[in-house]
Amino acid sequence: ASAAAKLTQFGVKHVARGIGRLSTEVLESGSGSYVTTVSGRKMLDFTSGIGVTNLGHSHPGVTKAAQAQVGKLVHGQVNIAFQKPYLELVKALIPLMPHKSLDTFFFWNSGSEAVEAAVKLARHATKKQNVIVMQGSYHGRTMGTMAMTRSKTIYGENYAPLMPGVFAVPFPYCKQCSIASHSDGKFGFENCCMDPVLQLELLLKRETSPSDTAAIFIETVLGEGGYVPPPQGYLERVREICDKNGILMVADEVQCGYGRTGKLFAIEHYGVRPDILVMAKGIANGFPLSGIVSRKELMDMQKPGSMGGTYGGNAVACAAAVAVLKAFKEEKILENVNARGKELKDALAAAQKNPKTKHMIYDVRALGLMLALECTPGKGYASKIQAKCMEKDMLLLTTSIYDTLRFIPPLNITKEDMAEGIRIISEAIEEVAA
Ligand code: PMP
Repeated sequence: ASAAAKLTQFGVKHVARGIGRLSTEVLESGSGSYVTTVSGRKMLDFTSGIGVTNLGHSHPGVTKAAQAQVGKLVHGQVNIAFQKPYLELVKALIPLMPHKSLDTFFFWNSGSEAVEAAVKLARHATKKQNVIVMQGSYHGRTMGTMAMTRSKTIYGENYAPLMPGVFAVPFPYCKQCSIASHSDGKFGFENCCMDPVLQLELLLKRETSPSDTAAIFIETVLGEGGYVPPPQGYLERVREICDKNGILMVADEVQCGYGRTGKLFAIEHYGVRPDILVMAKGIANGFPLSGIVSRKELMDMQKPGSMGGTYGGNAVACAAAVAVLKAFKEEKILENVNARGKELKDALAAAQKNPKTKHMIYDVRALGLMLALECTPGKGYASKIQAKCMEKDMLLLTTSIYDTLRFIPPLNITKEDMAEGIRIISEAIEEVAA
């Protein structure tokens, strides 16, 4: 076997099987929209490590900032003292928040930990304990967030008991609701999602009283549940229900935040104020960093010493994160997201109209560069298209329990790389149809 094949075999043998893997390739380097494997295979990366390397692999500005910080201070433990990059990051983030009330920060390492930090804050600030999440949501794989994750049973299967006190309501996923109603024929609902607002109100009457409910967690755009933006008006209703019942609204923007949808935070599309905003993934372009932001009045209720951890808000990761925000501004990232997002959406919409391929495509959804192509149920089209793309040297992910492809290219993808991606995807769809 070749050296590369031996490395793969070694990985298969000695690395936890519980990690699902799209491919057994061994990556060696990455630059911009491409990664290169140890065998020299160059692949167009439309996964960005699940929305993390949003400025492409090895972004020069981020790399330089991280390298400089490594030479100055790597670890400035947050329970020991402040450190400069942490404060610089807070300073850079404050004016970018979707609401001016969001002015106090806590940084952690992963998205899951940040979601749990939000649970702790919500419980402490409200002196209540239950949380409500959305069906189809993904919040992480820790004991707390596994309980809150409702996108696939695999994430929690056989790992119980998990954190108690988590209740779920439907997310307004109108397309799937209409499949359910039309295929059954007996349902009286036409595109109504069984009224997700009413479902939430009923939950608060039947299962978890407002006096026991600390927070409603919602991904502004559903990620692992299918890349579904909620219809306009829905989040406002959630906000109203929160206000009426003294419940905090937590926006989990780990996947949809940080420019992915064409605004820095997806909630800006809806003009709704969250009480707590959770961010991670793209925040430091690959360095482990996550965070929550809330208003000082809530954050100040927590007792000193009750928050923190060895690596949270690592100095190198924070320095990288400052460089990420600098790049967003200097390289007009959000403009690129909207321009490239439109090109990809137009191409997917063309496939949806194309007489040769339209039978395969049930829905095309897009907000910026957070795009999904939902296939006609029951035929496994999405994984077939995904496999074809892989043959054509493109990394692409599926999402949700439905047959759906998701497209997560870097936010600074060039026009040329996007054209190449569109060529591969279009060919793959046509070949699967043939
Ligand atoms: N929330 C959302 C919306 C996510 O998409 C993810 C990761 N896919 C997480 C939380 C968990 O983040 P992490 O994997 O960094 O723990």
